[in-house]
Amino acid sequence: MLVMKFGGTSVGSADAFAQVARIVGDKVAEQAKTPRPGVAVVTSAMSGVTNLLIDAAQRAAKGDESFYKEAENILRVKHQSVAGQLIDDGNERAALGRIFDARLAEFERLCSSIAVLGELTQRGLDVVSGLGERLAAPLLAAVLRARGIPAEYVDATELIVTDNVFGSAAPLMELTIPRSRARLVPLVEQGIVPVITGFIGATVDGIPTTLGRGGSDYSGAIIGAVLQADEIQIWTDVNGVMTADPRVVPNARSLNQLSYEEVAELAYYGAKVLHPKTVTPAIENNIPLRVLNTFEPSHPGTRIVGETDGAARGTVKAITSIRGMNLVTVAGRGMIGVPGIAARTFGAVAEVGANVLMISQSSSEQSICFVVPEGSADTVIPALRAEFKTELERHYIDDISSQRDVAIVAVVGSAMRGTPGLAAGIFRAVGNQGINVIAIAQGSSEANVSLVVEASRAADAVRAIHDIFELHKPTAERVKQL
Ligand code: ASP
Ligand code: MG
Repeated sequence: MLVMKFGGTSVGSADAFAQVARIVGDKVAEQAKTPRPGVAVVTSAMSGVTNLLIDAAQRAAKGDESFYKEAENILRVKHQSVAGQLIDDGNERAALGRIFDARLAEFERLCSSIAVLGELTQRGLDVVSGLGERLAAPLLAAVLRARGIPAEYVDATELIVTDNVFGSAAPLMELTIPRSRARLVPLVEQGIVPVITGFIGATVDGIPTTLGRGGSDYSGAIIGAVLQADEIQIWTDVNGVMTADPRVVPNARSLNQLSYEEVAELAYYGAKVLHPKTVTPAIENNIPLRVLNTFEPSHPGTRIVGETDGAARGTVKAITSIRGMNLVTVAGRGMIGVPGIAARTFGAVAEVGANVLMISQSSSEQSICFVVPEGSADTVIPALRAEFKTELERHYIDDISSQRDVAIVAVVGSAMRGTPGLAAGIFRAVGNQGINVIAIAQGSSEANVSLVVEASRAADAVRAIHDIFELHKPTAERVKQL
């Protein structure tokens, strides 16, 4: 039993759809020989579609009544052209045309009401932004049928029950599991491939929600957990998870294996491989995840498992950087030994809804620094000044400052703890390049060491660390050398 999720570029054109159909056909045949056969497919919207939908809704809210009409045409042509190229059966094409018409009419109605109201709520945006998957999934199901693969379109609003945190809803598994199983298991048992919309769900009351941008990966993992899949495959346009961004490090290579923990760290620090929540359903159910390339399906990709092989532990696996960050520092002698400063600091930060990506405190307790996205600094600093008004007046706290244009460079590898000298290597690498390290943090899991550097030096830092650990060599080879 396999759950296969296809991303936006995997369904980005007629050629890509045809390629997906070949891959699914092969997997269905392979599965037929296993004791528990079956394939379920989860799809993203065609690439570019979600952005276009969001853009149209936002412009409508500002009173633009023409852009969404243009967008509607673009969307119609985009989807019809795939259908036109890959589906010969007239009845199938007509049925699909009716689905497209209904979705696009819904899109137009929604945008015109948004324009009338002059306001776009997150709840309204979820309905609009989820339309892309609701166009792509019926199309993919029809393409599969046209290639002789029994398939049926299933809308995830019928399957995934979520809370009502619009824009980043979480699944309620105790409701999702029975509902999804009731709908999907009979299909799979009859040899029919369900083709499910990624990204979306609905509240208990049936109000549409989305799981957050890039959330189709998460949908794939949720469906994988529901069906107790043997593997959850994330089909994308690169050969799995790389040691670094190949645009930054030309000799970056793809990793055979990573642990859930490592991939979660990488996703958190901006490596655009997997939606960060994807690993949760996989871990909880101990289901391996595999990241594969639709355009090079014979490449083994990256397998993500609970524990990586003994030999590959204790090494650096990958390096990522995330720019557009701001380093906030709260400093002062009066903080030494005073309990509660950290709690008040992060209480104030939480109050303004800022996301903290990294924290570091020196053991002398004279300062706490932490990193937030650039855009949050404008609200975080005043919130801290207000919280510590008295301490600032009394000079217990000398300064609350922020440094713009910094980047976090995260060096990831499980159990780096077991291997002395890794930190030394990291600092030697950046030191050799004359890169100033502004702050450092290491999680207690020791699956990551993060450095804050000036954004303009982030790429150099990634390259230098990649070189010093020879990440261009296969993991097995590097481990032997240690
Ligand atoms: N289509 C959605 C997005 O672009 C979900 C996804 O692609 O995973 O965010
Ligand atoms: Mg995507």
